[in-house]
Amino acid sequence: MRLLVTNDDGYMAPGLDVLARAVSGLGEVHVIAPDREQSATSHSLTMHFPLRVRRTVSNWITVDGTPTDCVVLAIGALLEERPDFVLSGVNHGANLGDDVLYSGTVAAAMEATILGIPAVAISYAGKDRDALEEWLPSLTKLLEQIVGRGDFPAETLLNVNLPPIPPSKVAGIKVTTLGRRAYMDSLTRAQDPSGREYFWIGGGESRWWGGPDSDFRAIEAGFISVTPLHLDLTNYRLLQDVGEWDLKL
Ligand code: MN
Repeated sequence: MRLLVTNDDGYMAPGLDVLARAVSGLGEVHVIAPDREQSATSHSLTMHFPLRVRRTVSNWITVDGTPTDCVVLAIGALLEERPDFVLSGVNHGANLGDDVLYSGTVAAAMEATILGIPAVAISYAGKDRDALEEWLPSLTKLLEQIVGRGDFPAETLLNVNLPPIPPSKVAGIKVTTLGRRAYMDSLTRAQDPSGREYFWIGGGESRWWGGPDSDFRAIEAGFISVTPLHLDLTNYRLLQDVGEWDLKL
C-alpha cells in the first residue's frame, strides 16, 4: 500500500506530522506538501509561475504551490508509482458544511479523486494543535479501516472531522451530510498607516445550521463526522424545472 500524505497548512504543521505518523504502519508513506500555509486556497492550480520542489531532511518533499499543485506534481512527476490512497490533513480547524468549498485540505483530496485515486480529507475542529498528538492511535485505527476497504467508491472522497474534545471522550463515528455555515462581520474595511483604504477577509463570528444528520451536529455532539462527498455539483432535482424555462436564442 502506497500512501500520499499532503495538507494545506504547510509542511511545518503539527497536523501533517501526526497524520504521517498515524499511517506509517499501514504502508509506504510519501509526504508531499506545500512549503507554506495554503489554507483557503481551495482547488487553485499554479499555472503562471514555475513550481520548485525541495526535499527535507526527513525525506519529505515541499512544493512552493497549492495543495492541488502538490497532488498534481506527486502523481504526475515526483512519485515513481501511483499512490493507492491520498490522505490530506490533519487540518488545523474544522472543514464542515460550506467550508469544504474553500478548503485546500479538501481540494487536495478532490484532486486525487479526479485523478482516480481514493482520498480522505481529515480536519480537527479544535484550536489546540498540541492536542492532535493524542489523536494518533484513533487516527491509525480509523484510517486503517478506510484504506483497507477494497470497495472504496469511485468519484467519491471522505471528509472526516474530529471533534474538539479528547479522543477518550468521543461518542462514536457518524456518517453525515454537509451542513451550512454563514460568516458574520468577517469583512474588515480600514485604512493603512498612509491613509489608503484596504479590505481584509476573515475572522468574525460564524453561524451554522443543518439537518439532524449534518456534520456540524455530529461534531457538536462529540462524534467524529465522516461525510462522503462527490464531485458532481449538478442539481438533478432541478434539471426538469430549468428545462421548462424554455430558454431560447
Ligand atoms: Mn488549513
